[in-house]
Amino acid sequence: MIEMKGIVKRFYIGQPNELEILRGIDLVVRRGEFISIVGASGSGKSTLMNIIGALDRPTEGSYLLDSVPMAQVPDDMLSEIRNLKIGFVFQTFNLIARTTAQSNVELPMLYAGVPRARRAARAAELLEQVGMTDRRRHLPSELSGGQKQRVAIARAMANDPAILLADEPTGALDSQTGRLVMDLFHRLHEEQDKTIVLITHNPELAAETERIVTIADGRIIREEKGGGAK
Ligand code: ATP
Ligand code: MG
Repeated sequence: MIEMKGIVKRFYIGQPNELEILRGIDLVVRRGEFISIVGASGSGKSTLMNIIGALDRPTEGSYLLDSVPMAQVPDDMLSEIRNLKIGFVFQTFNLIARTTAQSNVELPMLYAGVPRARRAARAAELLEQVGMTDRRRHLPSELSGGQKQRVAIARAMANDPAILLADEPTGALDSQTGRLVMDLFHRLHEEQDKTIVLITHNPELAAETERIVTIADGRIIREEKGGGAK
């Protein structure tokens, strides 16, 4: 479902300087696979994740998402693909501060044109799944880090995307709360067959996934089976 070949990403930082951040990434992620991406700070993990998630485009190389060549998708259609196919979870949660947990979860459905009653019912179901029903009327500022991340995961699942991209989702959480979030990912993978790409600095969490992809200096230098491999 995710097929990348020869992905190069360069950033121009003013003539004549140019940074080559991704230097030829070949990566295939099968439907329903749970992989982790690890590597030093600055190695290009988030840059790669942004390309997988259609938040950014590569400078060179081909990216097929469900067999669709993304290079041929016009800019104004990228956000639609994103909203329907991909759920994002970030280290800093990225919830909308001025509105409730429930409204945050409803947001991707609002963009997708889901009617109000269905949005509310689906958000309630998702908040239930992440154990946040009793906090649904709270603002993000009234939630703990782990609670915010559970709301963010519920929001990522709103349109039932096939792919979940998580960039350091446990990075801002204590290990016990991180464990809870990781258990949620395992559940989504096992029960709902989600394809999950997890970026993490935590080797123990990476080892729980099916495949560990190591990036160094913009290249994949190692791929190994994880403990979660079938
Ligand atoms: P971390 O583990 O710290 O999150 P990372 O592996 O996710 O690191 P990236 O965020 O992908 O690293 O960044 C890789 C490199 O690309 C960094 O050196 C960064 O400065 C550079 N970079 C990222 N985005 C841009 C940009 N928009 N313009 C210029 N350079 C950028
Ligand atoms: Mg990063």
